[in-house]
Amino acid sequence: MTDFDLFVIGAGSGGVRAARISTQFGAKVAVAEDQYMGGTCVNVGCVPKKLYSYASHYAYDFQDSEGFGWSPQNPEFHWETLRDHKKSEITRLNGIYENILEAADVTLIEGRAKIVGPNTVEVSGQQYQCKRILIATGGWPFVPDIPGKELAVTSNEIFDLETFPKRILIVGGGYIAVEFAGIFAGLGSNVTLSYRGAEPLKNFDADIRRFFLNEMKKHVNLELNSNIEKIERNADGSLKVSFQEAESLQVDCVLYATGRKPNLTDLGLENTSVTLSRRGAIEINDRFQTNEPSIYALGDVVGKMELTPVALEEGMTLARNLFNGASDTMDYDLIPTAVFSHPNIGTVGLSEEMARLQCDDVVIYQSEFKHLKHTISGRDARTMMKIVVDGKSDKVLGLHMVGDDAGEIIQGFAVALKCGVTKAQLDSTVGIHPTAAEEFVTMRSPRAEK
Ligand code: NDP
Repeated sequence: MTDFDLFVIGAGSGGVRAARISTQFGAKVAVAEDQYMGGTCVNVGCVPKKLYSYASHYAYDFQDSEGFGWSPQNPEFHWETLRDHKKSEITRLNGIYENILEAADVTLIEGRAKIVGPNTVEVSGQQYQCKRILIATGGWPFVPDIPGKELAVTSNEIFDLETFPKRILIVGGGYIAVEFAGIFAGLGSNVTLSYRGAEPLKNFDADIRRFFLNEMKKHVNLELNSNIEKIERNADGSLKVSFQEAESLQVDCVLYATGRKPNLTDLGLENTSVTLSRRGAIEINDRFQTNEPSIYALGDVVGKMELTPVALEEGMTLARNLFNGASDTMDYDLIPTAVFSHPNIGTVGLSEEMARLQCDDVVIYQSEFKHLKHTISGRDARTMMKIVVDGKSDKVLGLHMVGDDAGEIIQGFAVALKCGVTKAQLDSTVGIHPTAAEEFVTMRSPRAEK
């Protein structure tokens, strides 16, 4: 006898969405979760990160306001207040997630799930028979094996530090590293970013990376082409970090943001014929099915694009396919993304480098300027926008921005790209004045070839 049509392991973004859409189509569904409702995004990812990013931006707002005639009276930041308010908000969201599942008639099972056969899952000693199993266990921070690695924290712990780190070293050059560099710099830490390469954000457009690096330099100390040798605890509790190439550094906290690995610990994959890629991600076909026909996987555990909205869309697609007669594949084209760094980065479509690999005739429109606000705030901050166009078809292939609200702006333009917008159509769109976004519809002269 089967207990469930679908047994979802992991109550993160992708798992919860797949579960509740599946019950809408009449399926009997269970979700097992052993840690926190809502997964990484809600608990130790997007949501708390954005809250901390807001907190950090007040510092700049206080400073900027002076040019506009305000006299902020020595504003002080209290880490404990931010941390505790964040905790309350996340607890509220955990409850909402639970209610959503309950309202959708999904059976919630607390505990760590282990797959014991292609159609059997065990949680806390009880076995459940399921027609299908969905692995949506997400990812887990990866920390390279260096002496003293246990003294470092990851994005799992950073939000809940007991005391505010006055000096912090952040290791890595991806989304998480640059986002936290901006957050802690704004909150008042002395931030050093150590990256093993020359410019962070490896897969982004090269001009965007160069421009962003220049902006980040204004509030973060950079150790580029740098590798950590070891971390040691000093007698006063602080940390000494030794580099292979540079002087050692004394800090209060070391945050490792060196990527995430699929979360597969004790999942019981050895009891199935599920296969893994060289990166250790679960291999699936274009319908999210693993090599074991009754087992599916989606979200960060398959490592395609580790973004919450991608996992949500994958979850909905799978539910429609399994229980509503659809046979859809997921469209991974033109997925916009934002880095909530300081300044923000927003991007959709191809970088100039990728476009040149795919097209013979690439035309670039690029603009760098001082935001109207900073003419009076006096802040040394600049904005950059870039449009990548196929010269033959006039189609816009990519749109990139570094500057305030880049994520908000790029989201709208992503719709246009999805509809196949041409540069001529951007040109024929009337701008909203005065905004930064209007620059995307008023750039007329292509950049001279480099
Ligand atoms: P990323 O994959 O973005 O970056 C990892 C960084 O760590 C890279 O700079 C990489 O260097 C470096 N690194 C990897 N291994 C080592 C090592 N052994 N020693 C030193 N450095 C190393 O991972 P993140 O952890 O920042 O984020 C994980 C994912 O989460 C992101 O890819 C993104 O998809 C998602 N995310 C999305 C956010 C958003 O949408 N705003 C926010 C946060 C996370 P190198 O460049 O040389 O490979």
